[in-house]
Amino acid sequence: MPMRPLLKGKPSPWLTDLPPLGMEAEDLARDIRHHFNCTLGRDKHCKSAHYSYTALALAVRDRLMERWKNTHYAYEEADCKHAYYLSMEFLMGRALGNAMLNLGLDNPLHKALHSIGLELEELVESEPDAGLGNGGLGRLAACFIDSCATLQLPVMGYGLRYEYGMFRQNIEDGYQVEEPDHWLRNGHVWELERPELTVRVRFGGRVETYEEHDRRKNLRWVETHDVLAVPYDIPVPGYQNGTVNTLRLWKAAATDEFDLDEFNAGDYAESVAAKNVAEHISMVLYPNDASENGKELRLRQQYFLASASLQDVIRKWVANHGEDFSQFAEKNCFQLNDTHPSIAVAELMRLLIDEHELNWDQAWSITSRTMAYTNHTLLPEALERWPVRLFRQLLPRLLEIIFEINARFLSEVSARWPGDIDRLARMSLIEEGWEQQVRMAYLAIVGSFSVNGVAELHSNLLMQGLFRDFYEMWPHKFNNKTNGITPRRWLAWCNPKLAALITETIGEGWVTDLSQLNKLAPYADDPAFRKRWREIKRANKERLLEHKKAELGVEVDPDAMFDVQVKRMHEYKRQLLNVLHVIHLYDRIKRGDKADWTPRCVLFGGKAAPGYVMAKRIIKLINNVANVVNHDPATDGLLKVTFMPNYRVSAMEVICAGADLSEQISTAGKEASGTGNMKFMMNGALTIGTLDGANIEIRQEVGADNFFLFGLTAEEVESMRPHYDPESFINRSEDFRRVMHLLESGHFNQFEPGIFDSIAQSIRSPHDPWMTAADFDGYVQAQRAAAAAYKDQEAWSRMSILNCATSGKFSTDRTIGEYNRDIWKLQPVPSLSVK
Ligand SMILES: *Cc1c(COP(=O)(O)O)cnc(C)c1O
Repeated sequence: MPMRPLLKGKPSPWLTDLPPLGMEAEDLARDIRHHFNCTLGRDKHCKSAHYSYTALALAVRDRLMERWKNTHYAYEEADCKHAYYLSMEFLMGRALGNAMLNLGLDNPLHKALHSIGLELEELVESEPDAGLGNGGLGRLAACFIDSCATLQLPVMGYGLRYEYGMFRQNIEDGYQVEEPDHWLRNGHVWELERPELTVRVRFGGRVETYEEHDRRKNLRWVETHDVLAVPYDIPVPGYQNGTVNTLRLWKAAATDEFDLDEFNAGDYAESVAAKNVAEHISMVLYPNDASENGKELRLRQQYFLASASLQDVIRKWVANHGEDFSQFAEKNCFQLNDTHPSIAVAELMRLLIDEHELNWDQAWSITSRTMAYTNHTLLPEALERWPVRLFRQLLPRLLEIIFEINARFLSEVSARWPGDIDRLARMSLIEEGWEQQVRMAYLAIVGSFSVNGVAELHSNLLMQGLFRDFYEMWPHKFNNKTNGITPRRWLAWCNPKLAALITETIGEGWVTDLSQLNKLAPYADDPAFRKRWREIKRANKERLLEHKKAELGVEVDPDAMFDVQVKRMHEYKRQLLNVLHVIHLYDRIKRGDKADWTPRCVLFGGKAAPGYVMAKRIIKLINNVANVVNHDPATDGLLKVTFMPNYRVSAMEVICAGADLSEQISTAGKEASGTGNMKFMMNGALTIGTLDGANIEIRQEVGADNFFLFGLTAEEVESMRPHYDPESFINRSEDFRRVMHLLESGHFNQFEPGIFDSIAQSIRSPHDPWMTAADFDGYVQAQRAAAAAYKDQEAWSRMSILNCATSGKFSTDRTIGEYNRDIWKLQPVPSLSVK
């Protein structure tokens, strides 16, 4: 899209050098009024909160703009190395509160809004979540770029601007019903379209060889169907440091070229309409968490992201360095968030060889020194493989490059292990079988200088299991980077009361140095401090009830223990084990075993992939059990159960602050890290959990006495698996037998016969991959210990404080510090702007 340049070549400083905008209440109030009336053109008849929200957001955005520009100038001037976080998902949630906090505008904005007569709370709530992700992986990307900005690291996020984000979940008659999330419908004030940076991405066609004048045989990719990638930039502010980094999201658009044949045949409308197909690429986020789905459109999305982002970086490189790529690897690093963008390995090779005339060895040297890969799961169903046939049809030139990478790689393997045919077959990038497949994780490993897992256990399991052969070949590539969460959103913003108490007690340094939370530990023994801590938790529980009032459908006592499991619905996460325990509690109440009872409210939330039948059935079970339990007067004051629909980032902000007990009960060895567990810990919830993912490190930090542990270890799971016998666990436990009887007798589905049979069968199956039955008794015992502990509120508060005080490790500032120290090696660049 050529844009006409200024006659003088560039704009005058009078136009571009804006004096800093005021940060006082009066400045803000004036700008809010200006945007409401002038930018948005609204008047006294406008009743919608949306426009007041937008006017406010624009006034805040103005303050981001100047810092954004200055950050860009500072990076330019420093001529520094950059890292790029390539991710198919960025689960950003809402932007307004975060921007306010990070700009330090909290107080003046409260004043300004008060003077205008607007309610901040109401405006904040009218912002839709940017739900461009499924769960943990996408939220991690969002927390990462927050920490990069706070650490003043030159890191840019690259993703897709999905027209439709994560679906909206309704519950009807206990079943999940999905609704499209048209989050852009009312416009998106936080993005800046950059049409001048549009790039072209190619698909289809064929590869032909031709000879150049020097007789060099060359390849070209011809007769392609091209799609334009238009970038939309989103500002990512650091915490009160003047830095604003960029998240660049690509939208697919049709080229302006017409299919002339069709055009001349008179099918003008048809040929224009056909262009629509191009725009489908960024239309919708695939709602599968931790499982691949193998659709052609998904591969198109992946290549679209990789190609557009790499072209963008190379365009910038060539503008500054011409065609000299000798320092490219010293100045650029790409972090691949799972295998989703791993086609970037082959695409960078293609761009360097086909478009910039490097030879193979030069290109490979650059590629294999700039790519770094993060693995997020050990689940076999999540490992991406693409049929060679699909590749050939969609990306023929990339398939050739992958074959060439593989040939060279395998010759390295056979030089190292001569005659080891099995090893060659195991390690090949191409899986043989009735249909050849490209193993994307292997492509990522071979093309990267760093491969990391996301918690100690997970990284160790990768090296001993899934990637063992590669670890043997290249031990130096492998490392661990335990996940984290940003303390700005997940404590300072979402829990203002607790944040204020912490700041009052230990100063404000914790916001950017979370290890300082350990200064809270001595206060765990101070009864007056415990009382204040408890009052805040209680207020946050009331806030949670208030927020969810409409959805809860039951009266809940805020003094009950809030026992919470919110996360994607997946069998490995074992929401089923939790609901079996609920059935057990109900059974105890019904049989009169309720001496020393701890009143409890069990809260569930989470979306199931629309095609994941079993996960959806478990949602139905939770709702049916809730219906029976909540309507039985015998449970009054003792037990409530509820499923909160449409779990998302903005919901979690309220939920984690109001939780007492955090459920992290996955089958050991299956949850790579978990980050929900960290949000709860940081907000003073205690964890009941297995030795899985980051739970292990959480327990290490807080101490075994302050964590409710149960269940098999990852090793025990695997050694038991071959002779796993669920019936033996059921038979030897009276409690378990009674629960299975309630489930199988139709007690929770009296008018819907058979709907839970598949669930009961999965529990009784010796092939149950999640081995739910093996952990039932241990789980019930740990729950008893938690309930007993909750009775002693002083002791509980002490443990709650200690959980928060020892959560410092789980800041993404620590995680990103490690990525930078070990992988990216970037210099922080202070911003040129005022803070
Ligand atoms: C933190 C978070 C997750 C990840 O939760 P896990 O318990 O680690 O699976 C998923 N979704 C949302 C909205 C989150 O905020």
